[in-house]
Amino acid sequence: MPFKSLGLLDQLVQGVHSQGYSAPTEIQSRAIPVALSGRDIIGRAQTGTGKTAAFILPILQRLSSKPLSGHGPRPVRALIVTPTRELALQNEEFAIKYGKYLHLKSLAVFGGVSMYHQIAGLRNGVDIVIATPGRLLDHMQRRTISLSQVEILVLDEADRMLDMGFIDDVRRIISAVPRERQTMLFSATMSPEVRSLAMRYMKNPATVESGEERNPIETISQKVYRVARDRKTDLLIELLKNPEMKSVLVFSRTRHGADRITRRLERAGMRALAIHSDLNQSQRLRALEGFKRGHCQALVATEIAARGIDVEGIDCVINYDVPEQPGNYIHRIGRTGRAEHEGDAITFVAFEEEPLIKQIERFIGKKLERLEHPDFPPEFQTQKPLQQFEQRPGAGFRTGSSGRRFSKRGHPRRVA
Ligand code: AMP
Repeated sequence: MPFKSLGLLDQLVQGVHSQGYSAPTEIQSRAIPVALSGRDIIGRAQTGTGKTAAFILPILQRLSSKPLSGHGPRPVRALIVTPTRELALQNEEFAIKYGKYLHLKSLAVFGGVSMYHQIAGLRNGVDIVIATPGRLLDHMQRRTISLSQVEILVLDEADRMLDMGFIDDVRRIISAVPRERQTMLFSATMSPEVRSLAMRYMKNPATVESGEERNPIETISQKVYRVARDRKTDLLIELLKNPEMKSVLVFSRTRHGADRITRRLERAGMRALAIHSDLNQSQRLRALEGFKRGHCQALVATEIAARGIDVEGIDCVINYDVPEQPGNYIHRIGRTGRAEHEGDAITFVAFEEEPLIKQIERFIGKKLERLEHPDFPPEFQTQKPLQQFEQRPGAGFRTGSSGRRFSKRGHPRRVA
């Protein structure tokens, strides 16, 4: 189905074609016609499905089709609230690219940078603001932004915003926007908290879905390595030696951990950069740019810093630590396999993390393939009784050459 048949203006169809997209993704073909009609939407779509265009294209169309009344600077008519600055920047980039044949202005507003340019931009008039909650509230308090003319409100990655503790901020923002509006909420998962937010603030929303809920994007192959905690970095270095691992996003639970892993990789002669919230905004953007341009092989990130990272062609996401929240697992691995490209996700599991990976498996409703590397075996292979981990009587880890041979990505044999 071509973009044109969704009811989009020629200028927008040209805008998406100029990005090299010939056909809409599933969420785009479902959401765009509904959003163009002005109806509220709950979009359940994971990151990587093309959800951003699913709300940005209708916003651009609806605003450009409605002439502005009055003179003076343009009022903010669409507000997109996102959990992180990276996601805000990414949305701004898409709004500018897709809307390049229209005459609308978009501005990302986020914390960690001076307010000066944001205030100047807002004063000059902006049609679409993409904001993180904290900085937006700052502008509201200083009265450097007015939301009184907002016609369209988008809550992007709503589940993440709630996970990150932004619920009160989000409520305050919604209350500052006129009641008479179109509201679109996008979320990878529909927790009771997200549902109640939608029920409270939306009018007769249409639900639009893409893919199975909780099921990570189908093109991603997911693997689990059982490995001793103190051998994780050695295993990581070994995997990164594989020439197919050109662009790898590594997740660490802590900032300190991210720095430590990065230093170890550098000492092993690898190009690695860390991205976490101890770095200032320009350092973070520089790390991200370096990774995007292929200047480094591995970007070692903490959970929050990695939100909204949109890098084409990530070969692999490696969870150095098992995520404690199963929802975060989906968000993390969604960084690879974007827009229907193949991607790999590997999770390192130490003995004490076994319950966490089981919890993730229950959450996604799928058993993950277990691997182990002969040079970096799991500690419980020697220290703990196997039956704690293996259900089948007599089952054990294969250590001989009878298992699968090394694959072309350098993954050794399957063990469970
Ligand atoms: P999102 O889920 O919005 O973060 O988008 C994920 C990726 O898909 C981005 O890198 C987009 O550039 C890309 N994308 C968006 N729409 C399409 C499309 N119709 N065809 C191919 N790629 C797309």
